[in-house]
Amino acid sequence: MLDADILVVGAGPVGVFTAILLVKFGFKIRIIDQYPEPIGNGSQACCVNSRTLEFLHSIDPALAQEVLLAATTFTHTYWYRNGALIMQKIPIQSDSRFTHTTHLQQSRYMEILTAHLACQGVHIERSTRLVDFEGRFEGDGVSAMIEDLETSATSTVEIAYLIGADGIKSVTRMRLGISIKDICPTMSWHMMDAIIGHSTLPTIGERNRIENKYGTVHSVAIGGGFHRFSLHICSDITGDLGQEEMIERIKLIVLPFEIEFKTVDRFFRYNLNHFVAEEFSQDRVFLVGDAAHNFSPICGLSLNTGLADRSVGSLCFAVSTSE
Ligand SMILES: Cc1cc2nc3c(=O)[nH]c(=O)nc-3n(C[C@H](O)[C@H](O)[C@H](O)COP(=O)(O)OP(=O)(O)OC[C@H]3O[C@@H](n4cnc5c(N)ncnc54)[C@H](O)[C@@H]3O)c2cc1C
Repeated sequence: MLDADILVVGAGPVGVFTAILLVKFGFKIRIIDQYPEPIGNGSQACCVNSRTLEFLHSIDPALAQEVLLAATTFTHTYWYRNGALIMQKIPIQSDSRFTHTTHLQQSRYMEILTAHLACQGVHIERSTRLVDFEGRFEGDGVSAMIEDLETSATSTVEIAYLIGADGIKSVTRMRLGISIKDICPTMSWHMMDAIIGHSTLPTIGERNRIENKYGTVHSVAIGGGFHRFSLHICSDITGDLGQEEMIERIKLIVLPFEIEFKTVDRFFRYNLNHFVAEEFSQDRVFLVGDAAHNFSPICGLSLNTGLADRSVGSLCFAVSTSE
């Protein structure tokens, strides 16, 4: 007898979103995560795009509405080059009923999704790690070994399908021996969430892309008085910048406008390796989200692709029609 139809491994945004969708399809699911609490302190994706909002709306209009209410919305991007505004009021996703881009910290977004899943009667089993899995002898399911990290006790879960939503270092992907294909050279990103003390940039409270010979910086208000600054490192820089160097670089890029920062809440940098897994599924095991692909953080591309790409939609369809 099966313990559940599907085991979702990983309760990041894609795992929780997939779980919500699967419950909606009528599956009995379990969802585990190795950490006792959601990871991240807010310093992750902050953009929920129109396509994702459409997805949320199709699951439950109230869910999309809740995200919208919690978020800051923008209908335009202001694009500056060499100190001049070269484009403005670009309609974003005008084919959607949500004609704006929505900015919300990933941690808050996760709270909303997790609460929705709980309302569906599913609670995330935390401090529980996927150790290994194998196809069942009869070939009609998967046996997964999981470990309770508080007691070190292991147990076996019998399921019809396993979904690896276990992030960039996916154990599921590695266990399947699926290799990844680099689709773009590694990019270096420096990011900072800060409160601005003073700026003469006319659209500072909006969504901006500002570029000159010193580089490109994206800025957007993310709520609570904070702005997220994302700096794409220029070829003239070798190595990583520190926080102060990033601030100096932003000041050079926004010239002739001025900007001063009052508080920097988070500063982080990471090298992003854009990749796509060679396969998204093998037999009864599927990969979704960062486990399957990883893209640029700009416009929440990485997160939103994980939430709305065909891997989630088509796997639900495949699973629901195969039984
Ligand atoms: C510093 C930083 C900044 C970022 N900024 C942006 C941005 O601006 N825009 C953007 O789009 N994206 C950004 N990202 C990426 C974005 O956060 C990810 O695309 C998104 O979190 C992917 O969601 P996911 O659910 O696929 O994976 P994850 O969020 O990585 O979740 C995977 C989950 O699986 C769990 N897990 C892993 N292995 C196991 C196991 N063996 N057993 C049980 N559980 C397991 C982990 O604990 C984790 O909770 C950023 C990421 C980081 C780290």
